[in-house]
Amino acid sequence: MATPAGNHPLPSYLDPNHLGPWGVYLQQVDRVTPYLGSLARWVETLKRPKRALIVDVPIEMDNGTIAHFEGYRVQHNLSRGPGKGGVRFHQDVTLSEVMALSAWMSIKNAAVNVPYGGAKGGIRVDPKKLTRSELERLTRRYTSEIGIIIGPSNDIPAPDVNTNAQIMAWMMDTYSMNVGATATGVVTGKPVDLGGSLGRVEATGRGVFTVGCEAARLTGMTIAGARVAVQGFGNVGGTAGKLFAEAGAKVVAVQDHTGSIHNAKGLDVPALLAHVQQTGGVGGFAGADVMGNDEFWGVACDIMIPAALESQITQDNAGRIQAKMVIEGANGPTTPEADDILNDKGVLVVPDVIANAGGVTVSYFEWVQDFSSFFWTEDEINARLVRIMKEAFAGVWQVAQENKVSLRTATFIVACKRMLHAREMRGLYP
Ligand code: NAD
Repeated sequence: MATPAGNHPLPSYLDPNHLGPWGVYLQQVDRVTPYLGSLARWVETLKRPKRALIVDVPIEMDNGTIAHFEGYRVQHNLSRGPGKGGVRFHQDVTLSEVMALSAWMSIKNAAVNVPYGGAKGGIRVDPKKLTRSELERLTRRYTSEIGIIIGPSNDIPAPDVNTNAQIMAWMMDTYSMNVGATATGVVTGKPVDLGGSLGRVEATGRGVFTVGCEAARLTGMTIAGARVAVQGFGNVGGTAGKLFAEAGAKVVAVQDHTGSIHNAKGLDVPALLAHVQQTGGVGGFAGADVMGNDEFWGVACDIMIPAALESQITQDNAGRIQAKMVIEGANGPTTPEADDILNDKGVLVVPDVIANAGGVTVSYFEWVQDFSSFFWTEDEINARLVRIMKEAFAGVWQVAQENKVSLRTATFIVACKRMLHAREMRGLYP
């Protein structure tokens, strides 16, 4: 597409030919542009973040030396509401990665129609090398540095890789100290005693289960007796596996960082969850055979749930997947090449941007509860979560049918239209 007059060429880190995560995102936007109708006029707005902040995070280490870390907070799109997205502490974090993650948050939030834009943050650090007090100082200084753009009405961080409820508590406290009032709504994923929400821990897995059941219903698959394979048996995979088993499905294979296990008759999921709790992984679980990590991908099953890391389903293993349906619990578990292989094979892929949106949906509930200082029961939260996930999935399903496109492209169509419609209605300032 020709660059509209007056637009400067994209800087190198926005170059679509440099195919990092941001390049993949730009390709995804290009793929949906033909479906945006008159809103395509505004599509450039999705191809650059609204705001990207790079901060220096200096801290004094326990041994008295001074260390500097690079931190980021990117607000990709704020047309529909404040920014929302997690904070990642990892040694490989880059600005380009945070930009892509912030854009995928825009898509996810618009797909489930929660009133947020997309944002993401991170620090380039290996937190496992820090002591607890160093980690606290790092978190607090980072929060202060990004404090100029975050806030309950501006941009609301949450946990992501290597960040947790304790880190959210430190972020909330630091922000509150700086503004002179307790502002619980500045972050979500907090401890329940500090304005966190019931049901948040299980929310993502519950969302995966909900859309999985809807996809099964629409394709004529019965959950009772369906064979499920799960990669990653942590928060997302463990909860999804538990809920599928409770609904009568057979969890026949599970893989995590300790290995892969298999039982064609169905694993005893509560016992497996207890084993993981005790030992840290599925390895060594009695009542299952050990299987090779690569063999796992070819296991006989009806539903495959990747819920561990990105880029797990690749062109090397996608052809061997026997499942009729892949439900992406993890972010970005399927490479674009593998996505094409699965689509060609007729495997239904329920993409991350809708399948794992249960987490941010309950984060939204947490923020609403913090604003109103009125807290809901877990049953209320779960019922509202299920309703939002079902409605969002039905909308995406319909768009996929109407346009004869994959659910991933359909989710992007729904989300991009919502964002660009908001952009158009707001108009350009000045
Ligand atoms: P977690 O840390 O609770 O669990 C991660 C699981 O992945 C563990 O079982 C671990 O053993 C497994 N794993 C790690 N390395 C592996 C490897 N090399 N091979 C196989 N398995 C491996 O994390 P989580 O919160 O369940 O998150 C899992 C995925 O879901 C991530 O991609 C995350 O970004 C995504 N996600 C999480 C949430 C949430 O609310 N927790 C929301 C949206 C998306």
